[in-house]
Amino acid sequence: MNYVSTRGKNEKVFAAQAIKQGLAGNGGLFMPEELPSLSFDDLSAVCGMSYPEAAAKILSMFLTDYTYDELLSDCEIAYGSAGFPDGAVNVAALDERIKILELWHGPTCAFKDMALQIMPRLLSRALTKTDEKREALILVATSGDTGKAALEGYKNVPGIKIEVFYPETGVSKIQKKQMATQDGDNVRVCAIKGNFDDAQSGVKKIFSDSEFCEKLNEKGVFLSSANSINWGRLAPQIVYYVYGYCQMVKRGDIHMGDKIDVCVPTGNFGNIFAAFIAKKMGVPIDRLICASNSNNVLTDFLSTGTYNRLREFHPTISPSMDILISSNLERLLYLMAGCEATAEYMRELNEKGSYTVSESVKEKLDEHFKGYFCSEENTKKTIKEAFAQGYLCDLSLIHI
Ligand SMILES: *Cc1c(COP(=O)(O)O)cnc(C)c1O
Repeated sequence: MNYVSTRGKNEKVFAAQAIKQGLAGNGGLFMPEELPSLSFDDLSAVCGMSYPEAAAKILSMFLTDYTYDELLSDCEIAYGSAGFPDGAVNVAALDERIKILELWHGPTCAFKDMALQIMPRLLSRALTKTDEKREALILVATSGDTGKAALEGYKNVPGIKIEVFYPETGVSKIQKKQMATQDGDNVRVCAIKGNFDDAQSGVKKIFSDSEFCEKLNEKGVFLSSANSINWGRLAPQIVYYVYGYCQMVKRGDIHMGDKIDVCVPTGNFGNIFAAFIAKKMGVPIDRLICASNSNNVLTDFLSTGTYNRLREFHPTISPSMDILISSNLERLLYLMAGCEATAEYMRELNEKGSYTVSESVKEKLDEHFKGYFCSEENTKKTIKEAFAQGYLCDLSLIHI
């Protein structure tokens, strides 16, 4: 399978190259040229699989330059009992109507573990597959969860170093401690003055600084990313939507073929975009509910068709969602509007701080997505209500 840039189709690479590179050459994001599909028979087969088996199956549909055996052996280690002693994912019932896909059973309790436990193994293989002799330096911008999960996934991986940038005042105390005390001889963390968007823009700037990259090259180093702009991070996230649906069938919550709505707390649009891909592949998902906090740029976008990042930034109690530039939205625009329109929208976003999608793109968005947001007060109230129903839905509360 070939990967192309969301901003133009000239560059075509295999998965290993896309994972090694992170961003496409023209600043766009890599997308598979076509999406594989899953029949109900395929889904029924997944119902009988372990998580590592399901992950290897789904990943092998996208990473066609990796063998199934390579992927299975990597997934067995990544999602095995060392990192996930209670199993990789669990479906819990909040009530009759609402089920929760628990993605926090990994080593750092962040759902990011689901991708970041496997991604270093995919990158390691990508270096071999592309005959890469240089060392990879992973740059990560984080508002908390990604940093710790990436450090934990990449620590002591040969041939790879990792440096994490986080906003000095934007991450929780636990996360700061998790990052500052990370073990491993190839890891480094750096606090920056500013918010997550500043960290992310800074990292993007380093990536596109060709003079700097040339200097690194002379030293035998190249840059790569572990943010969800990297396809190697996104692909593993598709798996748990497929697997989660099958778990619901197995539990008897639904019958095969019944449609479910999926509600995803959203920041950089990676997680919900993975759900959209699962839907496009054939998982019976009806509505994708994009849940934001008071940084509700996506809520406004989905209701009006205008994306406007020029607004006040609100630091909240859910900092992983405190994002005004949702990078992976570009992938959705690419699927709905094509590469030329996407390149134009991104140019406008960069130059004016906003863009408005065409009527036809807006209609396509409405067909699949609905955006809502939750105030700080409502977030707390909901966590409290769920707790009263017997469900603890914010692990960080254990530490407060
Ligand atoms: C990363 C993260 C998000 C946002 O996910 P995206 O894929 O960036 O949309 C939301 N909640 C938590 C707890 C996270 O760690």
